[in-house]
Amino acid sequence: VFNFSPGPATLPEPVLRKAAQEMLDWHGSGMSVMEMSHRGKQFISIYDEAQALARELLAVPANYKVLFMQGGAIGENAIVPMNLIGKTGKADYVLTGDWSQRSFKEAQTFGTINIAATGEGDKFRSIPKQSTWKLDPQASYVHICSNETIGGVEYHWTPDTGSVPLVADMSSNLMSRPLDVSKYGLIYAGAQKNMGPSGLTIVIVRDDLLGHALPITPSAFNYQLQAEADSMFNTPPTYAIYIAGLVFNHIKAQGGLAAMQVHNEAKAAVLYDFLDESKFFYNSVAREDRSLMNVPFKLKDESLDEAFLQGAADKGMIQLKGHRISGGMRASIYNAMPIEGVKALVAYMKDFEVRHG
Ligand code: PLP
Repeated sequence: VFNFSPGPATLPEPVLRKAAQEMLDWHGSGMSVMEMSHRGKQFISIYDEAQALARELLAVPANYKVLFMQGGAIGENAIVPMNLIGKTGKADYVLTGDWSQRSFKEAQTFGTINIAATGEGDKFRSIPKQSTWKLDPQASYVHICSNETIGGVEYHWTPDTGSVPLVADMSSNLMSRPLDVSKYGLIYAGAQKNMGPSGLTIVIVRDDLLGHALPITPSAFNYQLQAEADSMFNTPPTYAIYIAGLVFNHIKAQGGLAAMQVHNEAKAAVLYDFLDESKFFYNSVAREDRSLMNVPFKLKDESLDEAFLQGAADKGMIQLKGHRISGGMRASIYNAMPIEGVKALVAYMKDFEVRHG
């Protein structure tokens, strides 16, 4: 089966096999990872390895903390302003689709939130050029969503926000390619696309942004308290951290994030090249902003949607239905999707077009 789910998403098979082998007895401990105290030496070793690998793969500079938290990216939509907006009470948001709009709405409770730019005029089919952004130099931070999982637009450049920290929701593209962390003040991501199961939220935060939390911030969501406690202010999502560590090891063994980028570009090209030549299927996103991770596409004749999805499922290609907001189809092709999966999808689409076109 090729699973095109947008998340929780397909994971590398060797990782799942290893987890299955170790399920009842991790390294002779007599325990499943799920049964270990988060403060015991076995789990601490699992935690330390996952931390070290995350830092190594992303080349995280020494003046950043990597926190393993809970609450998901939707939780972070509130946790970020609670922790960062205290400096000036203001923040800038760039709207590029459904997820950044949700971040913007959630932030309203915590301060004065300005829309620095929006792609709404173009129906969110492109990312507004930085030259059109109206940035407030007094903002505590500028928020973007680096890959819109629903709309399929992705930044292939890094905004320059000067001395104002750049904050990015990278839920659907963190670990898909190399990243210059030093250009960001804070990065957050749910793990369930490229890194592991749901339940784990990764936060990478620059040291100088710690310590400005609003008094209402729950302690478990206070970055400074979590940083001081090595993400163990509360019980962290232990099993999800363990699987993420296995995924990080797997990425490293395959050549790290540079190798992921080559693999992801190759897969996306197979699908977009076909969509561009098809008279039957189309993708509406501006070429330079197309996501390497999530490829939404539609059939010109929507009455064939159900037949398309059923035929795909019959061939073992599942979870291709588009998001309820946008309709149509969406192929999510994260790190763990092999190129064979994308080739099989394109072969099926070609055949479908011949049969119904
Ligand atoms: N932000 C982006 C870009 C996402 O893709 C998602 C989930 O699909 C979320 C936020 C929400 O994540 P969660 O439901 O884990 O909070």
